[in-house]
Amino acid sequence: MALIVQKFGGTSVGSPEKICLIADRISKSYYDHNQMVVVVSAMGDTTDELIQLAQRVSVCPPHREMDMLLTAGERISMSLLSMALADRKVLAISLTGSQSGIITDQSHRRARILKILGDRVRAGLSNNKVVIVAGFQGVSESREVTTLGRGGSDTSAVALAAILRADRCEIYTDVDGVFSADPRRVPQAKLWKRVSHDVMVELATRGAGVLHPRSVELAKQYQVPLRVKNSLNDHEGTMIGPRKSTQKADGESDMEEFGVTGTTFDSNKFLVRVKLSRSTVLNSLWDLASHLHLSVVAPVFSEGEVWFFSDREAEGEWRRSLEELVRDGFIQSYRLCMETVPLSVVGDRFSQDGKALYEVISVLEKENIQVTLGSASALAITVGVSQNRAEDGVKALHKEFLEDRV
Ligand code: ADP
Ligand code: ASP
Ligand code: MG
Repeated sequence: MALIVQKFGGTSVGSPEKICLIADRISKSYYDHNQMVVVVSAMGDTTDELIQLAQRVSVCPPHREMDMLLTAGERISMSLLSMALADRKVLAISLTGSQSGIITDQSHRRARILKILGDRVRAGLSNNKVVIVAGFQGVSESREVTTLGRGGSDTSAVALAAILRADRCEIYTDVDGVFSADPRRVPQAKLWKRVSHDVMVELATRGAGVLHPRSVELAKQYQVPLRVKNSLNDHEGTMIGPRKSTQKADGESDMEEFGVTGTTFDSNKFLVRVKLSRSTVLNSLWDLASHLHLSVVAPVFSEGEVWFFSDREAEGEWRRSLEELVRDGFIQSYRLCMETVPLSVVGDRFSQDGKALYEVISVLEKENIQVTLGSASALAITVGVSQNRAEDGVKALHKEFLEDRV
């Protein structure tokens, strides 16, 4: 008997028929004598539709009320799944994030998990029930309902697996696992059997939406065996875990050549450019970002200016906060370049010299794709390109590094 946490994403619970299909899958594991905790996302595009609904009644909906609204999405799917399981004679109970004791900080719309009490989850398991938990949501210590940021159900699942010391956590989605690029955009993308935590965090942070980056960080920290699988077939999927050192040095390949795992871009991000009054105020900027949990990806600092990517949905917050810093004299000016998105090549051993960055820029130049900025770390090369050329860019980079060279 194993304790398994399974998470089903929006597309996997996107219709009553799909809910019945996953109920069949869960019943099979249950009747195989496993203990099951199932985390669900909202059905299909429900979360997007709820956001649009809010925008029809308010130009700037308060974050608290957005969380009240958005958490309704997961309530629908969790209760429907519980009903479908009841029909299959499986004992099940659905719980909201709050009922599950998922305690977060107070940052509405991008809260961080502080702890999970989980007593009702444990009680359900000891009563031989499948416990269904609404993903993406929690409750703050002052009993306000919160959400964990878009795509956050993955993080709910891994966090639950960590505190329950589950034998494994399986993330079910609509593709066979983690590919070398989004398989919907790059048909030649290859499916990986295994991707290391660190590389997966970089891929996810830079746009590979198949996993929420914080879920991978938690899996690494708490050693949760994590696998991404397709909810519609029995393919083994991709294991996210420590690198296996099975590769032999055979003297034929270039041992120190950099390795590429994936190419990705993120149309949900945009470029922020800030002219500082003096370099010491950089700290105020990072404090602000970390206080509001705003993402800062691939920062580059040069001659009193700092450039980085952040989430499109936080545009208003950046604008308000940067205006304030201008008023208080911390920064001279800022620009939000909504048309510039990050395009990345992720892998390892990139930082030995400028070679990888140079090669990325050359490939894009050949395609007449203009690069606004370039940054390199050990695990990722990220450049800024115009949003309407990003898909061409990801395909060209994939062809160069993952098709032609292997
Ligand atoms: P879910 O609703 O199951 O959480 P998501 O839409 O969040 O699903 O994530 C799955 C999607 O991630 C896939 O449909 C795929 O288009 C996209 N994706 C982007 N990059 C990758 C990648 N490198 N490997 C696999 N899928 C990817
Ligand atoms: N339903 C939420 C979203 O669409 C959470 C998730 O899918 O993980 O972002
Ligand atoms: Mg997702």
